[in-house]
Amino acid sequence: MKQTIVLATHNAGKIRELKTILQPLGYDVKAIHEICPHIEEPEETGTTFAENARLKAAYYLQATGLPCLADDSGIIADALQGRPGVYSARFAGPECDDEKNNQKLIQELSVFPPEKRTAHYACVLVLLFPDGREIEAEGRCEGVIRDFYAGSNGFGYDPLFYVTDKEKTMAEMSMDEKNAISHRGKALRKLAEALS
Ligand code: IMP
Repeated sequence: MKQTIVLATHNAGKIRELKTILQPLGYDVKAIHEICPHIEEPEETGTTFAENARLKAAYYLQATGLPCLADDSGIIADALQGRPGVYSARFAGPECDDEKNNQKLIQELSVFPPEKRTAHYACVLVLLFPDGREIEAEGRCEGVIRDFYAGSNGFGYDPLFYVTDKEKTMAEMSMDEKNAISHRGKALRKLAEALS
């Protein structure tokens, strides 16, 4: 029987990317809403990606009794001293969405010339098992934040995040192209190695 892994996230973009890599490895991958449709999300009180990933995985493991994989990730802009970082999902405030977050990033970076607009995506994955085993893996992906959108794939900051050696934004890449170079893809491959 396939082992179930519960994805401790409601983010549809993350769920797509995590399932694309984990399902071919033979896991029965379920998003938390498929198992507990009405569960509340935990508050992300950590100050690092690792702390937040761990608290999300622990919260959903407690609720389901199943192995839970949490992703905490974000975009780190060098000119903004690492912001938005762990606050990437709520950069534009409590009522924000991807569009508002992207506009805030464009606006905050508007005073910087292109060569100062370097950034990276970071992702920490934490997989917790009911028997106490745990695996943590991280990945990062370098790029530049542009001030105009290109592409409609991916999610979040992807239309602004330009990967110089691919000459494309993340949103112009197919899922496979993105997973091959992304912070999440790299972290997942490390996690898969530790699982095998
Ligand atoms: P989290 O759910 O607290 O980990 O927030 C992650 C946030 O970081 C997302 O809502 C996006 O704003 C941003 N982010 C993380 N990974 C990606 C990605 O692969 N593409 C675009 N935005 C991302």
